[in-house]
Amino acid sequence: MSRNQNRSKMDKIVSLAKRRGYIFQSSEIYGGLSSCYDYGPLGVELRKNIKETWWNDIVTSRENVVGMDSSILMHPKVWEASGHVENFTDPLVDCKQCKNRFRLDKGVHKFKCTNCNMKFHIKEGQIGGRKKYRECFDDLTASEPESYVNSTCPRCGKEESIILDKVACPKCGAADLTDPKQFNLMFKTHYGASEDSAHRIYLRPETAQGIFVNFANVSNAARAKLPFGIAQIGKAFRNEVTTRNFIFRSREFEQMELEFFVRPDASEKWHKEWIESRLEWYKKIGINEKNLQLREHGSDELAHYAKACVDVEYKFPFGWAELEGIADRQTYDLQQHIDHSGNKLTYYDQEQEEHIVPAVVESSAGVDRTMLTVLADAYWEDEANDRVVLSLSPQMAPIKAAVFPLVNREKMPEVARDIFEDLKGHLPVEYDDSGSIGRRYRRQDEAGTPFCITVDSQTLEDGTVTIRERDSLEQVRINKEHALQEIRDRIN
Ligand code: ATP
Repeated sequence: MSRNQNRSKMDKIVSLAKRRGYIFQSSEIYGGLSSCYDYGPLGVELRKNIKETWWNDIVTSRENVVGMDSSILMHPKVWEASGHVENFTDPLVDCKQCKNRFRLDKGVHKFKCTNCNMKFHIKEGQIGGRKKYRECFDDLTASEPESYVNSTCPRCGKEESIILDKVACPKCGAADLTDPKQFNLMFKTHYGASEDSAHRIYLRPETAQGIFVNFANVSNAARAKLPFGIAQIGKAFRNEVTTRNFIFRSREFEQMELEFFVRPDASEKWHKEWIESRLEWYKKIGINEKNLQLREHGSDELAHYAKACVDVEYKFPFGWAELEGIADRQTYDLQQHIDHSGNKLTYYDQEQEEHIVPAVVESSAGVDRTMLTVLADAYWEDEANDRVVLSLSPQMAPIKAAVFPLVNREKMPEVARDIFEDLKGHLPVEYDDSGSIGRRYRRQDEAGTPFCITVDSQTLEDGTVTIRERDSLEQVRINKEHALQEIRDRIN
């Protein structure tokens, strides 16, 4: 698909999400608050399904993982110990020409080869660490300019020959920028009645620290033995400088995090196991495996304390991007809190008869990014049948079935309502009798509803209804008394 087609796919997903009640812009009637979103009736159901399947997979189905829910506001020392006060920053620059303010890595980076003079530029990379450059233009056509990353000229092959020439404004193209200023991404607020700096606290930028500071509380209460994990789902806040791509990067979002504590010499093995297990989960919730890949962080991207980190990436309409990070963080997090709090966050190893600081393998996923993935992966246009379809897996779909009377006469509405009432207590279902049957089917196709149950004149004669499957459009007749069981069987 071309860049324009991909952009328009994104626009279509945004528009469908609003039309069908998945996602709205926050505070829309006041002009909207950028990069904050509200979730509508179908949106909350989809998020609930994502979170439930994650929790079932990570906590409920395992003997050695427990859950917790820590407070969003935490002692400010937590963020000093974790390194966020000092290091959770982005470099910001202003364009002196058009006054655009942007993250340095989001500028247009112009490079040249000192040997053959080839020039090229790269947009949207992340300079200075977190990611490799993503898009490149002009002379280079590769989507991942590996050779640049290694400083080798892709044209003449000379090593160490590529240099950064200048950085230009992504809006007006001028290479006339201020020096970068470091901007901390944590939202600040004040605790209690005083607004002085002594009462400054932060909205948490990740849920993980709530787990680390409760390591002793939870492991004692759960009488946990290594290896064991603590999981949490909750809101996190980052004052992101560059926000784009809908709910992919927002300022308020939700994380699903697991901190899995292990003996330090076992961290590599567990890291591998969790990567596999997490990748499987995305497939289980219906994501096409062709659109998933693992990307290992290079040594230039890794935090100094981490041994390894692998991102699960999804092929979004705007390109491959991180869905989740799985990192072998060694003993860093617990050790930092031991050093800063003076508390003993250790584990007594009965085999070795000694206190050890466990290493941690972290899996950190975003609810919002998973939701965008689920929507983007499910979206397609069925031109032959003139409809837009969200092929959500039945497990993820917010509404499992819709019940229709074919027409609004001859007792069909009454019979359909009875079926709807029977199903309602067991499954999220919808009743719809407005508009032509074709339009009602199309509405449900767009909403991602996998099954439609229709009452027609034959129902009045023999008690059977049709069940229509969203993707194949196949219809079968079954006795209306079996509708609930049939839908349940198909969901499972
Ligand atoms: P990125 O490089 O995309 O900013 P990150 O590496 O900073 O992400 P982590 O700190 O590893 O992200 O956060 C773990 C997960 O939390 C991410 O994989 C993503 O799913 C989610 N996440 C992080 N920041 C945001 C955000 N601003 N909006 C939505 N989800 C986010």
